[in-house]
Amino acid sequence: MMKRALCLLITLVLLSASCALAEKQDITLTRSGDQMGAQMFAMDTFIQATVYGSALDADALLEIMRNVSRLEALLSTTSPDSEISAVNAAQGESIPVSADTLAVLKTVLEVSGETGGAFDVTAYPLVKAWGFTQDEFRVPDGEELESLLDRVDYNQIILSDEAISVPAQTEIDLGGIAKGYTGDVLTAALREKGVNSALLSLGGNIAVIGRKQDGSLWKIGVRDPLGSPDSIGYLQIEDANVITSGGYERYFVDEDGNVRWHIIDPKTGYPAQSGLISVTVVGKNGAKCDALSTALFVMGADKASAYLSAHPEFEAILIREDGSLLLTNGLKDRFTLMPGYQNRSVEWISR
Ligand code: AMP
Ligand code: MG
Repeated sequence: MMKRALCLLITLVLLSASCALAEKQDITLTRSGDQMGAQMFAMDTFIQATVYGSALDADALLEIMRNVSRLEALLSTTSPDSEISAVNAAQGESIPVSADTLAVLKTVLEVSGETGGAFDVTAYPLVKAWGFTQDEFRVPDGEELESLLDRVDYNQIILSDEAISVPAQTEIDLGGIAKGYTGDVLTAALREKGVNSALLSLGGNIAVIGRKQDGSLWKIGVRDPLGSPDSIGYLQIEDANVITSGGYERYFVDEDGNVRWHIIDPKTGYPAQSGLISVTVVGKNGAKCDALSTALFVMGADKASAYLSAHPEFEAILIREDGSLLLTNGLKDRFTLMPGYQNRSVEWISR
């Protein structure tokens, strides 16, 4: 009996040791001088953090990076065990959710209201109908989209202090905001540990803490959305997020040669055709920048400019299909076009 108990104990100890190892392998840590890096694949993308200075040890960085998997488990639509999947399956019942899920949804409703529903997480049935959730792309017919549009309305989301409910036919998807929020959680945790210089990339979403260690600003490239993977220019920032929604990020070409991307206009049910092909938003609140980059893409240059004129807490770079640029005037000293792009037309949004 004693022997069996001992065997069980040893097995348990070995199992937990191998789990810890497996988890550590999922997050790769690197160190060079007083610079420490962490990389992982999560939320369908590569996530990378580089922390400068000696405020943090490896275990603390690992612990902070585990927030990514924790948040993915709460917020993912594709994982059947997530809180969002529970809300979507609840058939109208109110579901208690974590503080993180509530915080994301609060921002969701804020941005949806401010953008007249250009950002609408209840567009999920449309996102699925176009095949973007499972990478099984298809063009739904007008009738199908029409019937799905009846289910799209962020006003149907009911949020209390600890629970959320959506009507039986309504489904939500946080793909347009989850990475921005995750960036906020990571930078807050790093700051709390005393980190004052760090660069994070969550699938191209950038969040920086402070400045580079030599005191200079971070230089963040903005991708040319018209095919080439080059940077069209770069931003110089500190303590901010740089978040881009681009038509080039996820798309397919249909039988008629139309490019169909993953940003859906919740009013029409079709991939947004606003004349913009890329929107970069710069600001302190990553969740809001993320939701806004998606919303402004849907709104198009005129409505996006009006929004930005009224919200000086955000800077933005809008790129039209013809390659011309529209920037908020706070970026006058902060954005530089690369040599190959000097001839691009540039206009400024004043406020
Ligand atoms: P992003 O790359 O941040 O612009 O987010 C795009 C993702 O957000 C898509 O893959 C969908 O999951 C979701 N989405 C698409 N259109 C909208 C929309 N109009 N409002 C909110 N979420 C959307
Ligand atoms: Mg977004």
